[in-house]
Amino acid sequence: MWFCLAVGDHLYRGRYFLLSFLLVLVLVSIAIFSGETLKIIPVYPATMQTRKDNLMDQPDNRTSTPDQLYIPTQKGECPVESPLLQGLVKPSFESSLTLKNVENENKGVSDGEYEPSGCTARQSVAIIIPHRRRETHLIYFLYHLHPFLQRQQLHYAIYVVNQAGDATFNRAKLMNVGYLEALKDHSWDCFIFHDVDLIPENDKNVYICDDNRPKHLIFGKNSTGYQLPYPTNFGGVTALTREQFQKVNGFPNIYWGWGGEDDDLYTRVRLQKMKIVRPPANVARYTMMFHKRDSGNKKNPNRAWLMQKTHSLMKTDGINSCSYTTLSVERLLLYVNVTVDIGKPQS
Ligand code: UDP
Ligand code: BGC
Ligand code: MN
Repeated sequence: MWFCLAVGDHLYRGRYFLLSFLLVLVLVSIAIFSGETLKIIPVYPATMQTRKDNLMDQPDNRTSTPDQLYIPTQKGECPVESPLLQGLVKPSFESSLTLKNVENENKGVSDGEYEPSGCTARQSVAIIIPHRRRETHLIYFLYHLHPFLQRQQLHYAIYVVNQAGDATFNRAKLMNVGYLEALKDHSWDCFIFHDVDLIPENDKNVYICDDNRPKHLIFGKNSTGYQLPYPTNFGGVTALTREQFQKVNGFPNIYWGWGGEDDDLYTRVRLQKMKIVRPPANVARYTMMFHKRDSGNKKNPNRAWLMQKTHSLMKTDGINSCSYTTLSVERLLLYVNVTVDIGKPQS
């Protein structure tokens, strides 16, 4: 009797254990396959909420999603050649493209600024765009340039400098304004002065400055059969360090209308005993979006005369004499939009 009861009890307990074991097994399987209960909890400190705090003050070695557990270590400098480069890629001009589309494709950019997350950029670069009534060009420019600069792993920001009013256009003075305004935000290492209608075709044309020589980033464009117009040409896209730009006192302010202001900058560079450098022709290739001469930007009739005066004028005409009134500074998602009154030609 006692024996029968003991066996019965064992059987009962055995069944109970078996059932409990199966239940646990089912629960564990559900947990693993749903992935919910095992999700890694983010461990970002509260101080790393904003992009600037996050990237400028704190080491951050994230490589993939912010949901993953990471161990903070010191970020290394980005490699000399970014592994993200694609080489020669022809730009595309989809007619339905909108600024909203471009914003959606560049979620890592805010206030026109971007920093790589996995490494420390080798240079901080301000891109300065002189602008008036070229909105369509600006959308295509942003569409191509943001991913291009991100593939180059740069810390950069784009400044669009708008000339208010209808006075004759002054590209060079807008460049000076862009330089002065950008420096209010950050002590950029390098400034790239860039026409809005030029799209680089090859991302091996890296948008960084050369410490020893001002750089002309464009050898040829589609509209010139990819030929350099003349050996001393310094138009379209130029890259100067802060020191180089200071040394030449920036661009002249007194070139109203089309032409000559870029030649003047070239003369300033030579007068300061610097030589320019250009990437090879197959790298420094650009597509210029088609346009006619803008109505407020007639050929400057004074340009030949002014270009002979560079040596005497450069000390007093430039960033040290650039007067303007800032009408607005809008920090948009993809660029800082600066609108200025730069006055009008004297006579
Ligand atoms: N630009 C502008 N609005 C104008 C005139 C010029 O925005 O009404 C800017 C724009 O960035 C343009 C640059 O100035 O790319 C140079 O002017 P343009 O394209 O006429 O010169 P070119 O094609 O002869 O180099
Ligand atoms: C003008 C420059 C221009 C170049 C190429 C020269 O005659 O002075 O401003 O960049 O032509 O078009
Ligand atoms: Mn143009």
